Amino acid sequence: MNAVVLKPGRDKAVRNKHHWIFSGAIRDLPDFENGAVLPVRGAGGDLLGHGYFNRKSSITGRMVSFGSDPPEAAIRRSVERALALRAGFFDPAVTNARRLINAEGDGLPGLIADLYDDVLVLQVATLGMEKLKPLVLELLTAAVRPRSIVERSDLPTRREEGLEESEALLAGEPVEKVRILEAGIPYWVGLAQGQKTGFYLDQRESRRLVRELAAGRRVLNAFSYTGSFSVCALLGGAVRADSVDTSAAAIGLAQENFELNGLSADSGLFFTADVFEFLREPALDHDFIILDPPAFAKKRTDVVAACRGYKDINRLAMQRVRAPGLVLTFSCSHFVDEALFQQVVFQAAHEAGRRVRILQKHRQAFDHPVNVYHPETAYLKGFLLYVD
Ligand code: SAH
Repeated sequence: MNAVVLKPGRDKAVRNKHHWIFSGAIRDLPDFENGAVLPVRGAGGDLLGHGYFNRKSSITGRMVSFGSDPPEAAIRRSVERALALRAGFFDPAVTNARRLINAEGDGLPGLIADLYDDVLVLQVATLGMEKLKPLVLELLTAAVRPRSIVERSDLPTRREEGLEESEALLAGEPVEKVRILEAGIPYWVGLAQGQKTGFYLDQRESRRLVRELAAGRRVLNAFSYTGSFSVCALLGGAVRADSVDTSAAAIGLAQENFELNGLSADSGLFFTADVFEFLREPALDHDFIILDPPAFAKKRTDVVAACRGYKDINRLAMQRVRAPGLVLTFSCSHFVDEALFQQVVFQAAHEAGRRVRILQKHRQAFDHPVNVYHPETAYLKGFLLYVD
């Protein structure tokens, strides 16, 4: 079969098991249909592995196997290994929602699979993975026997791949929302119109932290989505937990999550509002502020503007929090790495004129593993700050 041949000196990343091939690294591209899996060779002709290719994408190729492994067998093994990594970590009587496949983190570029109780949610980001979807579905269906399979590939980045955004029921009965358990706490996950695949599973460990830290505190959950941090804060003994999000649908589900947990309507206020404006309110009296914004940098050229945004909300939170207080602040842009985010926090503290110390650092939950060969898989970072 015709192979993709890399330029001399431009094959190092793939030799080091990085998944991405940019057009500038390619010497010869054979005739192929976009989305096809092709062998990838070094300039000297040695086989480096197989990847799927799409001329339309800024990342032309994404590796699915390395070395001489046949690609289909490698994909099967990646799925099996992803499931094995999660097996044994979760007691389904306590936590029945988890990420099964985390794209490059599990060696499967373009694919996310989350399990919410017995509902499987799939997100496919690329044309190459779209073509591999039947294989992946067959493997996952056999392994987890889901009641329903929902696709939530409503990603604007699919356009770059020549794909439409797509939401579909792939198997079973339609599911509008599903009730999950995490650390014994029930939550509603909206599958009809929620964000991501429905729930921020990557914040599981931070939710536990919030529950541990919240006793006696007045908590502001900024960028609350469906209120999971607010629920955890109240179950952990917070005096109050207020939630702010621009999405009315998210705030609606947050209120339902309060009800589901038997939390009274007056245990927290709900605001459908912009956090940038909300934090300028002088009347806030919170001593624990959580900032979990969406990714402000979606591409590298956004980084400067993104850092300005992160700095603004962190400065406002530091100014507004009652001292001594806590700020739990996150960035989920992989373009803003931990060192840069710490610099932003430093700038924010400097401008706020507050004494700020980092007590702990956090990352995405362990079912969102970081592939050491592909550092872009580390995206979520958080600092627990003490402000006095
Ligand atoms: N902490 C949440 C996840 C937050 S995701 C959880 O663990 O479940 C980011 C949220 O920010 C989304 O719900 C989005 O609707 C909201 N959002 C985006 N921009 C906003 C803004 N300027 N002000 C308020 N909310 C915003």
